[in-house]
Amino acid sequence: MLTKILSCAVVGIDGEAINIEADVSKGHPVFIVVGLADKAVDESRQRIPTAIRNSGFEYPYSKKIIVNLAPADLKKEGAAFDLPIAVGILISSGQVQANLDNSIFIGELALDGTLRPTRGILPVAIWAREKEYKRIFVPAINAKEAAIVTGVDVIPIDSLQEIALHLNNQKIIKPFKITEELKDEQIIDEVDMAYISGQEHAKRALEVAAAGAHNVSLSGPPGSGKTLLSRSMVSILPKMALEEQLEVTKIYSIAGCLSQNMPLVINRPFRSPHHTSSGVALVGGGTFPKPGEISLAHRGVLFLDEFAEFPRYVLENLRQPLEDGVVTVSRAQGTFTFPARFILVASQNPCPCGYVGDPDRECVCTQVQIMKYKNKISGPIIDRIDLHVEVPRLAFEKLNQKEKAESSASIRDRVNQARSKQSARLKEYGIFTNNEMTAQIVKDVCRLNSETQQLIKQAVNSLHLSARSFHRILKVSRTIADLEDSDEITSPHVAEALQYRPKTE
Ligand SMILES: [Zn+2]
Repeated sequence: MLTKILSCAVVGIDGEAINIEADVSKGHPVFIVVGLADKAVDESRQRIPTAIRNSGFEYPYSKKIIVNLAPADLKKEGAAFDLPIAVGILISSGQVQANLDNSIFIGELALDGTLRPTRGILPVAIWAREKEYKRIFVPAINAKEAAIVTGVDVIPIDSLQEIALHLNNQKIIKPFKITEELKDEQIIDEVDMAYISGQEHAKRALEVAAAGAHNVSLSGPPGSGKTLLSRSMVSILPKMALEEQLEVTKIYSIAGCLSQNMPLVINRPFRSPHHTSSGVALVGGGTFPKPGEISLAHRGVLFLDEFAEFPRYVLENLRQPLEDGVVTVSRAQGTFTFPARFILVASQNPCPCGYVGDPDRECVCTQVQIMKYKNKISGPIIDRIDLHVEVPRLAFEKLNQKEKAESSASIRDRVNQARSKQSARLKEYGIFTNNEMTAQIVKDVCRLNSETQQLIKQAVNSLHLSARSFHRILKVSRTIADLEDSDEITSPHVAEALQYRPKTE
C-alpha cells in the first residue's frame, strides 16, 4: 500500500514542500530511500525501524519498503523527515489509519521512538500558514517556537506512539497554545547606558548612529570600554515590531539557536564573533547553508572587536551586506541569500600594541607597523562607516562617578523620534534611514542654508575632504538635526558631524 505524506524543507530561510511517498508491498525484503537523500536521511534507514519497534509497533521486515522524497533535485538535509517517513510506513503497513489531509509532519526520531529537537521549525510553520495548511505536527520541544505563528494548529508530539494514538483517534493531542506573554527580559545581556560612566562623546556618537542606522568605528586602547559601549547600543535602538521579530526568529530557527526559554527573538540581536571564527561561521554557508553571524545580527548590532585582525576576505564579504542588507552564499547546490541588515560597530586599537597616543603608557610599535595596521581595512569598508570615534581610557575618578548617566530608555525616545522623522521624509525613496541614502538622495533632502553652506565649504577646503566624505558628513548632519527635531540642518549640526570623520582624512 502507498501512503502520501507532506513535509517541508528549509531552503535559504524559506520553506519548500517535500512530498513523501512510503510504499510497503510484498517482495524482496528491503528498505530503500530515494530522492537525493544525504547521509543523515540515509541514517534514518537505520533509525526508523528501531524507533518503530521500540514504540510497540511491528516493523515489516519481510516486506519491500520504498520511500521516495520529491522533488528529487532538492538536496534534503538532516533527520527532519524521520517522523513523516515512520508515519508513512505505519499507515502503509496497516497499523495506523489516518486522514493526512491538510497536515504537515516534521521531526527527528530517537531510537526509542521519542522526538528530538529539530532545527528550522519556525520557517516551516510560517510556510504552512502561507500555504493554508491546517495543522503541523512538530516535536513537542519545538512547539513553542512553531506556535508563535498564528493561524495554523501546532500539534506537539513527544513520541511516535503518541502520534499513532492521535491519528487513530484513540487519544487526541490538543494544539499547543502559547499562554504566557512572551517577555521582554528574555535577553539579559542588554546593558543600560545609565551604568556607563563618562565616555559622553562615544555615547553621543552611538546615539547618532542608532538614530540614523549609521555604522560606527570605535578606536581606543584596551580597557577603554569599547565592548561595553557597543553592547549598550542595542538598548537605545527602537524596539522591534512583531514582523521584524518573526523575521529574525526565522534566522535563529534555521541556525538552531532557539530554545524553549527563547522561542521568539524579541530584542534586537547583538553578535560579537571573534576574529578567529571561520569564514562560514561569520558569513554563512556550509554543505547545507546555514546563516552566519552577520545574519544572526540582522536588525541588530554586529560588533567586530579588533576589526583589523579579521581576515581580509571576511571584511570583503561585508561589502554586500553593508550595501544591500543581504549576503549571498554560493554552494554546489546553488546560491542562497540570507538577510544581513545590521549596524556595524567596528572597534580597534589605535595601533598593534594599543597605546599610541596614550598619555600614560608608551607605544612599542614602529611607524611601519602602525601604517600597515591602519591600511588593513580597505577603503570601500571605511566608506560604509559614517561615524569614527575615539574612545580614550578614562581616569579612575571619572569611572567611579556616583551620579547615574541618562538611561537608555530616555535616549531611545529621541532615537525613535528621529527615526519617524526620517521614515516620513524618505518614504518616497523606498528607504527608512539616513544611512541608506544614496548621493542623489542626499542632494535632494540635505539642503543647507547659506551660513551652513559656507561652513561646510570651508571645511571641505581646509580639511581636503573628498566627495564621499562630504556626503557622509551631510548624512550624519541630517541625523543630528533629526535628533533635535529640526527640519533644517544648521551649523552646529554640521560642526558635530565633522568631529566624526575618520582621522586618516
Ligand atoms: Zn603601539
